[in-house]
Amino acid sequence: MLEKITSIDTKVFLVGAGPGDPELLTVKAHALLRSADLILHDDLVAPPILSLAGPQAMVVNVGKRCGVKKTTQPEINHMMIAAARHGMRVVRLKSGDPGIFGRLAEELDALEAAGIPFEVVPGITAAVAAAASLHVSLTDRRKSSRIVIVSGHRAQENTHAARSDWKSLAREDTTLVIYMPGHHLSGFAQELLDAGLPPATPAVLVSRASTPQQRQCCTTLAGLHTVPRTDAPAILLIGSSLDRAAQRINATPHLLTPDEHLTSPLQAIGAASLAHSTADAHERRILP
Ligand code: SAH
Repeated sequence: MLEKITSIDTKVFLVGAGPGDPELLTVKAHALLRSADLILHDDLVAPPILSLAGPQAMVVNVGKRCGVKKTTQPEINHMMIAAARHGMRVVRLKSGDPGIFGRLAEELDALEAAGIPFEVVPGITAAVAAAASLHVSLTDRRKSSRIVIVSGHRAQENTHAARSDWKSLAREDTTLVIYMPGHHLSGFAQELLDAGLPPATPAVLVSRASTPQQRQCCTTLAGLHTVPRTDAPAILLIGSSLDRAAQRINATPHLLTPDEHLTSPLQAIGAASLAHSTADAHERRILP
């Protein structure tokens, strides 16, 4: 049997890599990447972040993409535990925050059962990065007193429980954030409309938030069916807290520099509200 060498150096760090921009890594995450012997990362962790690993590090992709598992969860658990027992400094690196749709709880259970010390290092989750890039606040004491984070997979289930969920989600004082929304955005829209949300409620799909490849598509609940399909990792934000983004983007259907993005000429003359009623989606690119 392997001897347990559980000193402080052998603990496993479960680390958030943030949404993609390496500058949004925490200082702690950066230091751990530099010093790790083994980095077990998910698919969504971007290459620029992996390139920060120290020269001694073994970097292993244990992710799954589009539901296809490369490494099973028990195998990942085994790798973390075995490496820690061999005295390696292990970083389990997950995109965004490890505790948001990151199977963190399962891995913590496995480490605890094996008697391996661990530490969780939070990261910036996709919703927070997307909101920042849109210049919106996910809470707004005038409009949104709660944020609800859901997984699109769960929401699309057609069970009784999932259906009653929609009623609790469809509140006008809520910013709803749907991770892994898939391709059937009009399905969400219909459920929320049926549950009573107004058709003009802003809805924004943001893909690859915080990276130079970020795209965003801004519309309303009634216009969600016009959003172009994307296979890039994306989240859907819905709620009146997105008003500012909706006005700005719909009013300016051309590429903007970051400066223009902040002070569009249309906004300056107060024309932004003219475009607010459109249900059509306009896609634009955030320039780095
Ligand atoms: N732990 C991650 C979420 C992992 S689940 C976090 O906290 O962000 C994976 C899903 O997260 C993706 O399918 C997508 O819905 C979302 N996601 C992750 N990174 C993203 C990004 N940069 N932009 C938009 N959505 C992202």
